[in-house]
Amino acid sequence: MRTENSLLTTQDPRLKTQNSRMDSIAMLDREFFLGFIKIHILHHASKAPIFGVEIAEELARHGYAISPGTLYPTLHRLAKEGYLSSSATVVNGKVRKYYTATDKGNLLLEESRTKIRELVDEVIEERATKDEVH
Ligand SMILES: [Zn+2]
Repeated sequence: MRTENSLLTTQDPRLKTQNSRMDSIAMLDREFFLGFIKIHILHHASKAPIFGVEIAEELARHGYAISPGTLYPTLHRLAKEGYLSSSATVVNGKVRKYYTATDKGNLLLEESRTKIRELVDEVIEERATKDEVH
């Protein structure tokens, strides 16, 4: 988990002067995990309204150390693309933005579930039976 965490908190690779092979690998890893993170966000936002700090803590519990610089743009993008709706509430004198999955978001989540099942069947289950099946 440590390796993945450090990849997720790595600065935007575009900020680096040289794009070494390692940098492009790290960027690719980041993209893969961002997909998992988006599905995770949708999953929780489909159950109850979520806000940034809360989802960051939830993701950390699952081993994803996501920086605010990645999390907030991701939430904004999901909202802009119509997967999440947002509403602002004042909590302790500060504006807190809550996100809820839209119908479009729930539909994507449902499609994701099918794909996750398919992926688990192949990537996890196939690996488990690899020694038996030749
Ligand atoms: Zn969770």
